[in-house]
Order: sequence, then C-alpha cells, then structure tokens
Amino acid sequence: MFDPNKKLINKIKERGGFINAHAHFDRAFTVTEENMEKVVNYHLFDKWKFVDKFKKNAEVSTYKRNMMAAVEQQIHYGSVGALSFVDVDTVCNYNALKAAQIVKKEAKTKGFTLKICSQALKGVLAPKENRLLRDALEMDYLDAIGGLPRADAGHQQAHLDEILYLGKTYNKRVHVHVDQLNDNLEKETELLARRTMHWGMEGNVTAVHGISIACHSKEYRKEVYKMSRDAGLSFISCPTAWIDSRRSENLTPTHNAITPVEEMIAHDLVVAIGSDNIHDVYKPYSTGEMALELKFLLEALHMYDLETLVDIATKNGRLVIGMEEFNDGERKT
Ligand SMILES: [Zn+2]
Repeated sequence: MFDPNKKLINKIKERGGFINAHAHFDRAFTVTEENMEKVVNYHLFDKWKFVDKFKKNAEVSTYKRNMMAAVEQQIHYGSVGALSFVDVDTVCNYNALKAAQIVKKEAKTKGFTLKICSQALKGVLAPKENRLLRDALEMDYLDAIGGLPRADAGHQQAHLDEILYLGKTYNKRVHVHVDQLNDNLEKETELLARRTMHWGMEGNVTAVHGISIACHSKEYRKEVYKMSRDAGLSFISCPTAWIDSRRSENLTPTHNAITPVEEMIAHDLVVAIGSDNIHDVYKPYSTGEMALELKFLLEALHMYDLETLVDIATKNGRLVIGMEEFNDGERKT
C-alpha cells in the first residue's frame, strides 16, 4: 500500500538526511519532573528568571551532558546536522559556549555536523554583553552570529546593525529571530532585509520564524518577499515552536500560526526547518524530531509537493547553516 510519509522519509534519507537548522541545544532537557509541575505554567517573565537561575549555576559539564543528549537524539531521529544557538551573556558567560566546542567535536566523530551560533538573550549593545560576543568571535568559538532584536527593545535597528557589522567583519553568517509573535504590529523581517542590504550582507543572512508576516495584507507580504529576495534573505520555519501562539482579538488575514513557507517558495526564497526548543520549560513536550516538524509544516500549509519538502528538510538546511555554499546554480538571490 502506498504511504506518502514513507516515500518522503526515504527520499530525505537518500538526499543526505534531515538538517535541524534552528535549535537551542544548551537548554535541551532542562525540564525535570519537579520544574514541570510549576515552571511550565509560569508567566513568560518568571520563566526567564527561572532560566537565569539555572544558567547561573550550570557548569560546563551540565551543558555538555544536555547538548550531547540532544545531538544523540537528533541522530536517532535521522538528522545529520544542526545549527544550535548557544547562550553567550553575562549570566552564563562562556560556560555553554565552551561545552558547545566539546560537543561539536564529539558530534563530528558520530558523523553529525554541529554549527554553533551565539544567542544574545541580554542583547548585543550593552558594553559587557558586546565584549563577550566580540571576544567569542576573536576566540573563533562561533560559526554564525545570532540575533534577537527584542532583546535590545527600543534599539532594534542598532541591534541588527551591530550583528550585521560583526558578520561582515568576521565573515560569518547571521541568523536572526524575527516576527515571532504572530502579531500584525511586527515588521522585523522588513527591517532585517533593509539592514542586510545596507551592510552588503546579501546571501549571508537568515531570518528565523517570520510568522507575523502572515498577519499582514497580501500586498505587504509580496513587498516583504520581494525585498527578501533583493537582500538574499533565507528563512527557517520552526513549525511546532509557535503553533501554540495565543489567540488574540486582532483582526488579520486568516492564517495558521506558522511561517508562510508556501508563499516564500513561490517567490523563490530558500526555506529550511528547525525544531527550536527541545524538552525545556518553554516547550516541555518538544522532541526535536524533524519528521514531525515537517509533517506540521505540510499539514498547516497544505504543501504536498514531495521535491519541495525534501529540499526544505535537506539541501536548504545545509545551505542556511553553512554546510555548503550557495553557488551560481542556486539562488543566491
Ligand atoms: Zn530560537
């Protein structure tokens, strides 16, 4: 009997296996039986405090154990590579990043490519945070530079300018969390595309999430896709990560809470997928299984074209995490 799921998974294996293009392995497995009881129901701000407390006390060995477990689980689920954001801030200093260097080497011996990207939860503009990031680049701890414009609230453009400048200076790819909240007040992808072109970083920047794009009118969405092509922006959708986006009374075009991937593909943009959080207090049930993420994507967006799905799961992932270069045959856009 014909099973499209089997055909899809077999094709993905043939094409080299799944790539998990966006994750936070340093937080993986931090949900426990005790904190599961209380913390998962905390308000988001109290969860941040909880996570800070964990980070302050976590040693390199704790991070290493959790990250290695995440890599092993990825291999178990058929992934061959991933890009993980890793916290670099004044709460954990370099503990997570040092563990990541060890795990990267160990992963390689198991045939798994792990790329490391900085996660600046405390922003990149405050002098101490900025110093940590720049020193991490000097020490060659990072494969890519990560951004979270909201971490420098009120100074989003300066946040982007700083990481794009550093990306240009150190010749690194830049991955930025944008338009996460499924909210029509967000226009971060547009800002990212504009600043990418300003810094001449076309082809080296990836937007993670981009869910709020779907809250805007068709005309605006088209503008964003066109601008993204001009900026050579690629995208990563993490289907289960924001599917839990809370109901709101804002009136927007009807859509599922997911990156509008099918429209992006139609506009010739490169899109990959990631798991985002795995077994932490934000997403306790999340396993990081990429076959499940792909299933959510195809169901939420009615995407049935096998070749497109295979590309999203494999080749596009390799491109955006820097396992292979965009070449002339590919859209560098
Ligand atoms: Zn993330």
